Amino acid sequence: MLSYQHAYHAGNFADVQKHLTLYAVADYLLRKKTSVTYVDSHAGRGLYPLTTKETQRLQEYREGVEPLWQARQQLTDPLLDGWLNTLAKAQPSEETLSHYPGSPWWLAQALRPHDHLRLFELHPGEHEHLSAQALPTQARRIYGDGLAGTKQLLPVATPRLCVLMDPSYERKTEYQEVVEAVAYTLEKARHAVVLIWYPLLPAEHHAALLNGLTGSGIRKIWHSELLLRDAGERTHGMYGSGMVVINPPWGLDERLEAAMSQVTPLLGSESRYRAKWLVGE
Ligand code: SAM
Repeated sequence: MLSYQHAYHAGNFADVQKHLTLYAVADYLLRKKTSVTYVDSHAGRGLYPLTTKETQRLQEYREGVEPLWQARQQLTDPLLDGWLNTLAKAQPSEETLSHYPGSPWWLAQALRPHDHLRLFELHPGEHEHLSAQALPTQARRIYGDGLAGTKQLLPVATPRLCVLMDPSYERKTEYQEVVEAVAYTLEKARHAVVLIWYPLLPAEHHAALLNGLTGSGIRKIWHSELLLRDAGERTHGMYGSGMVVINPPWGLDERLEAAMSQVTPLLGSESRYRAKWLVGE
């Protein structure tokens, strides 16, 4: 039974870190002409009006995208500037932040006529929302399990592959399932760029994910973590978020470091960013 709905968290600090990383990776992939298949294994709704009662309940975007949007005229980093200009395209009125786009929308922005996008969503209500979004014809929405579905797509027909795995981790076994799905993906597509989002929780469940990936023989694994506050004495609740990038494009780490150095001060005095190679470089 799936209960997670991303609308409660849309535009929060974790979304900023995830979608900025995704935007930067797609920007690199666009530098070569060869076609790309993008797979979003856990797609969500695709677009989140900030005024819905779900998003208004926690208003997490106020500690995420909103302070960046408000400071956008002063932000000088080129990656961040490109991301915020792209975000403006999701707004019916470019001056007002009223919608936050999810990963399907960010990936759709990068699509060229010869690229493909496959979006998996297993929650019937969320899939219905996703189906209502206007997306380019290269995007196909699939109602089904994202990790099993990703495996079934392999090998893809395009020379390049980029996969985002962004589960809700409602089940602890999902960390291990992601490790297995990544290993299978790289067996079928050695150069695939794979992005994996994970939460930082006091129980540190993500250690199983990072240890599993590190021990799986993959040659290049980089990850970054954005901490909104110190874990301290907390016993529950997400205090930060992480992004793994397997086979990251060259220079991604430095570009993100520069962008995040402008992001973190806007997210509060306790906020900090750290990144390192788990394997390689
Ligand atoms: N990737 C989205 C974004 O960045 O905008 C947010 C995705 S949200 C964190 C996780 C989504 O995965 C939820 O919409 C949930 O319904 C869906 N989901 C959960 N289990 C799934 C599964 N096994 N296969 C596909 N989707 C699943």
